[in-house]
Order: sequence, then C-alpha cells, then structure tokens
Amino acid sequence: MATNGHFAPVGAEPTKKQFDHGVQVVDEEKEFTPNLNTYLSVTDVADAGFNYHLISVFGSQSTGKSTLLNHLFGTEFSVMDEVQRQQTTKGIWMSKNKKEQRASFKMAENILVMDVEGTDGRERGEDQDFERKSALFALATSEVLIVNIWEHQVGLYQGANMGLLKTVFEVNLQLFLKDKNSTPRSLLFFVIRDHIGNTPLGNLRNTLVQDLTKIWSSIAKPHGLESSRIEDYFDFAFAALPHKILQPDKFVAEVENLSQRFTPGSKANRDAGHENSELEGGVFLPEYHRRIPADGFSVYAEGVWDQIVSNKDLDLPTQQELLAQFRCDEISREVLVAFDVSIMPLEEKQAQAVRSGKPALLPDLGTTGKSSRDKAIKAFEVQASRYHKGVYSRKRSELETKIDQRLKVLYQEQISALQKTGVASFSEAVSTAVKAGQKAGGSYEFADIVEKEKKTALETFSEEAESLTIDGVAWANFKPQCALFETELDEVSAKLRKDEMRRLAVRVERWVRSRLGDSIGIEFNKLGSGRAGMGAPESMEKPPAEKDLWDRIWKVFIEIVDDAETRFTERAKSFKASDTEMSIGLWRLRRKSWVALREKVEEEVMEGNILLKLRENFEDKFRYDEAGVPRIWRPTDDIEGIYTKARESTLTLIPILSHFKLSSSNLPPNLHEWIGHMPKEAEAEDEDDLAPIGGVDEEDGKSLEEEMTILSEGKRQDLVIRFKKTADGVYVEAKRGAIGGIAQ
Ligand code: GDP
Ligand code: MG
Repeated sequence: MATNGHFAPVGAEPTKKQFDHGVQVVDEEKEFTPNLNTYLSVTDVADAGFNYHLISVFGSQSTGKSTLLNHLFGTEFSVMDEVQRQQTTKGIWMSKNKKEQRASFKMAENILVMDVEGTDGRERGEDQDFERKSALFALATSEVLIVNIWEHQVGLYQGANMGLLKTVFEVNLQLFLKDKNSTPRSLLFFVIRDHIGNTPLGNLRNTLVQDLTKIWSSIAKPHGLESSRIEDYFDFAFAALPHKILQPDKFVAEVENLSQRFTPGSKANRDAGHENSELEGGVFLPEYHRRIPADGFSVYAEGVWDQIVSNKDLDLPTQQELLAQFRCDEISREVLVAFDVSIMPLEEKQAQAVRSGKPALLPDLGTTGKSSRDKAIKAFEVQASRYHKGVYSRKRSELETKIDQRLKVLYQEQISALQKTGVASFSEAVSTAVKAGQKAGGSYEFADIVEKEKKTALETFSEEAESLTIDGVAWANFKPQCALFETELDEVSAKLRKDEMRRLAVRVERWVRSRLGDSIGIEFNKLGSGRAGMGAPESMEKPPAEKDLWDRIWKVFIEIVDDAETRFTERAKSFKASDTEMSIGLWRLRRKSWVALREKVEEEVMEGNILLKLRENFEDKFRYDEAGVPRIWRPTDDIEGIYTKARESTLTLIPILSHFKLSSSNLPPNLHEWIGHMPKEAEAEDEDDLAPIGGVDEEDGKSLEEEMTILSEGKRQDLVIRFKKTADGVYVEAKRGAIGGIAQ
C-alpha cells in the first residue's frame, strides 16, 4: 500500500478513527500538522508529563525500516508494495507503540515512534535538503535513533549510509552548539538487517565503530569543538536480525527479543569510566530525554520544525523558553477558567450588593476562595513546573497576582460588609437588651450588656476574618481590621453609653423636679403665715420666716441636687462611664436642676399665687392678735393702726421676693461657681437642649443679676398696688364689721 489513507493527513479534521494508524507530523510539502496535540491527547500521552519516549529511524530507502518498526511496535506505517516497488509518500510519521503488552514483559510506557520517509535522496540524486532537515528534527526531539543497515553495507565506508550518518553528526554539532548547559546525549541504535550469521555481531560492531570514528574525524567541527569526540554526544547499541523473507519465523522471534530492549535502562560501568560500556536493562536512559513535557511537545516540535524549515539557526534553549512561555500562559488560562466557575458567581453577587448599597456577606467565602486559589495554583504547578524553571516561576507569580487581585477585591469588600453588619447588629443587640431590661423593671447592667454583645460581635468578626486568612499571603491577613473593628465597637459603645447617660439624666432630672415641686412649695407656703414675726414690733419689718426665704430654698435645693448627683454617679459608674462622661453628666444635671428651680419659683410668684400668699400673710397679722386669737373689732379699737402696721409688714416681703439673695452675703448665690466650668469635652456637643443661664452663659448677654431677679420692677409695683387694694378691702370690711357690731 503506497498511499496513506489510514493516516490522518495534515489539515484534516481529526477523529479518533483517523488516528488508528498514527499521524503525519510533516507532509511532503514540509507543512507541520495541526493535529499532533490532538493525537497525543487521543493516545493518552499528553498527560504523561515526562513519562514518554521518542524514537526515530534512519536508513537508506527501502531497507525495511517501516517493516521493522511495524514489527517492533505494532505500528501500521506504510511499507513499500512488494510487487509494484512503488515509493511511499515523503514525510515524517508518528505513531504510539501499539505492541500488546504481556504480563511477563512490558515495554516502556508511551513510546512514540517517528518513521522518516524519503530520508535518503542521494541514491536518486534527489533532495538532500529534506534529509538534513528531518535529521535535525529527529535529533532535536528523539532519545533513540535507530540506524537501519544491511549487513552487506557494513564496512562500505563510501556507502550511502555513511553519507547519512555524516549528515546526522554535522547536524548534531550544529544543534547542540548553543545548548552547552545540557549537552544531551542520544543513542545510535544500529540494527543490522539480513544478518547471515557468518560474521559475529561483535565484529560487525567493531567495523561500524571504526567507520563512525572515521566519519567523525572527517567532519568540519565548529570553533571550540575541534577536539570533541563522538562519545561526547552519542552512545551506541547494536543488534542484528535474520532475513525476513528467508527466515521469517526466526525474524519474528528475533524482533520480539529486540522489542524487549525498549525499556528504561542505565549504563553499566559508566561510573567506572569505561567507554563504550554496555547498556544495562533497556535503551531508554534518562539523560537521553529532551525534557519537553508531553503536553508541550506539539508546540515545541512545531516551533523547532518552523526554525528548521526557514533555515534559521536552531536554538533549542530559546525554543524551550518560548515553549515554556506559551504553555505556561495556556495552562494559566485553563486553570483560570476553573477558578472563574467558582469565583465569578460570588463576584456578581457582591457587585449587586455593592450597587444596591446593602452590605451582604458571602457565605463560606474564605473556604471557597482559598480552595479555588489552591486548586488553581496546584493545577498550574503540576503542569507548568515541568517547563523552563525561570519562566515557570515568573508565570506562577503572574497567575498568583491575577488570582489575588480578584480575591483581594472580594475579601476586602467582605471585610467591609462584615464591619458594617457587625456594628449594626451590635448596636441593635445592645438596644434590644436595654429595652428588655427597661421592660423588666429597669434592673439591667448596661456595662454587662455591652461587654457581652461586644464579645459576641468580636467573635463573629474574627471568626470570619480568620477564615479569610491565607497563610503566607500578606494581604490576606485581617488582624489589623479586627483591631479596627474593636475600636469601632468601642466608639459605638461610647455613643450608646451616652444615650444611656441621657436617659439616666432625664430620669434624675424628673426626680429633681418632683422633689423641688414639693419642697419649694412648702417654703413658699410658709409665707402665708405672718404671725411668727408679730411678737416684736422692731422685727416686724423683716420677719424671720420671710427674711431667710432664699437661704432656705437654696439649702433645700442644694440638698436635693446633692442627692441627685449621688444617684446619678452611682448609676453611671455601674455602666462604666468615663470620668469625662461623668463630669459632663453632672454639669448638665446641675444646670438643668437650676432651670427647674427657676421655673418652680416662677410658678410660685405667678400673680394669682403670690397675691394670695401676701393676702394670707397680711390677714394673719391683721385679724389675729399676738396670742393667735382672732380679733373681734370694736369701734374703740385702733383698726387703722393695726391695719397700717400689718400692711407695711407684709409689703416688706415684696422686695425680698424680688431678688434671689442669700442673707449671709446679701448677694445671689454664685451660680457660676456652683455649676462649674463647662467640661472641655462638652463643648463639642450639641447643647440645644440646654437653656441659657444668666451670669453663667455670659455670651447670652444675661447677667447673674437678671437671672436672680424674680420680680421685675414693673411687676413689683403692680403687685404692691394690687396687694394694697386687697388689704384695703379687708380693712374696709373690718371697719364695717366694728360699726355693725355696735349697731346691733
Ligand atoms: P523502508 O523504505 O525502509 O521503510 O522499507 P519498507 O519497510 O517499505 O520495505 C521495503 C521492502 O523491503 C519491502 O518490499 C519489504 O518487503 C522488504 N523487506 C522488509 N524487511 C526486509 C528484510 O528484513 N529483508 C529483506 N531482504 N527485505 C525486507
Ligand atoms: Mg518506510
């Protein structure tokens, strides 16, 4: 069969069926196949990493190369038709070893065999260019080069085979000139065909080695490699096979033996320094391997072929670096696809939450993020680490950067959502507990509630932050945010405590008002009784009960406020208010208490109220004698005298009432001193709820004098007139009563 209908030709859409016979790597037009990687995938070689082997075959046309490969490896390379003697199509073919593996003996895994057709054009004076190019390609990729040779050609130094070997050697020197670091070796495996048996293999071998050394010395070596030896680049192995047509059974048996040599091996006596030492075990020595990962082989091979075809200097290290870049990028894209599958839905969900302005926590973000990251990097590492070290580590950190940029956005937004929701639920929880406490009769400890809820909030936060931590990754450590969150909670607590302080202040103020209502009322009621001062006329102008009215009010007031301060302090201490908060609270309490007193006094001196008290005071003096006995007026009584005395006595009350003054100093109490300076920290607060106090808040333009003026001049005169009228009425009534008493 001269045509290659069973092989997948270049450019055809691949199917598994089409690959049954292998793949045409390079066609007669020197085009490289786009299907090589598909072929390697279909044959399960692509995932093998370095666990694969490449063999190429060389030799003259029609020396039974393809026949040999087919027998050795169960391949189906085209063999020249015996009857028509027609040439097979030129090109490079590849097939995976298909030899059935027996339990008793197994060949190496993943052997790829390349059959180079038309390598020897010189017999027909043809294209030696392709011969050179395919040799270069085979050397750049293969571990073992099988050299197929007739027994009768051995020793024919001028023969076509020797020309081919010369080409191989020259090409090899050219190829590995640049690759000084690795200087890879190859195995030249001579298979001598149609071995009759008269000449032992050992002799044939010696002849071949002599010839090879001769060829090596005849080739022009590049500068610096003049003294290099053939053994620096090649190992040799030899085998002989009987005539296939004349001894078919023996041929098959010997080929079977030969196939058993295609296993991993080592070199005997290598360490002892013996040259041409024998291979031990199989032909595949690790040092022959070109170290191109199987999944990158097609890209590498194509790159190498392109360079060869365009007659460029084949620089294998550069090719390997280019391959590494290409493959690392490809692998990176692949692992990012998987990463996207798990991360993209989270990104979308979060973006939606951000757009809607409602912070949303993504459940299990840390677990998903970390496992997706680990999976991606691990997958990358497994595949990409086989490539050029420098390129690999650079691409790995590029991948990590890409992944981390994505995760960083997710994580930081998560932390921010965590902060927001954490603060919200903390203050919510505190408020709820306080309300519950109030409902239950007010016996709750604010500080305990705050402490408990803070602990819960911090635990929730640090648990989540911990789950987002990635060991050894600086950005994925959220300890500072934990500390920040605690600060934030403390700020919120302070605000909540302030609210609690306000509530407490309101309660205490209400208590002060109610106490003042009673106590101050009592003091004013005392004004209604005027007899206490009637005993001694000289003291009538300033009756004692009235004279020290403000002293008594101030004293009662101070006592009540002192009491209130104690209550306030004790309670505030229980919820751990700071000294500042405490002094602000007390300062506010004193101000508010004063305002409450001022209002109470105002109520007492309201026109109707005070007039009534003055009338009572006057009547008490006028209608009762010193012994407290009601007077029965007689015409002879000095009604007018008593009236005048009582009236004048009561009138002295009005100036006393008009000004809040202490008798000790004849001055108003020093309110400013008593209230104290505004605590510095209170300045920043909103004091709209604090009424201005004259003499204390000087910027309000009201003096202490004005603050302490209980009755204005106008009111005072008005009160005098009204009181006099009332008193007059009482007097007239008394006068009438006295006259009426006589008339009766
Ligand atoms: P290739 O061109 O080197 O691949 O050679 P082929 O495998 O196509 O075989 C060329 C011819 O040689 C075919 O007609 C085969 O039948 C014949 N042939 C194959 N193996 C042997 C062998 O071991 N001895 C001899 N004498 N002929 C062989
Ligand atoms: Mg062939």
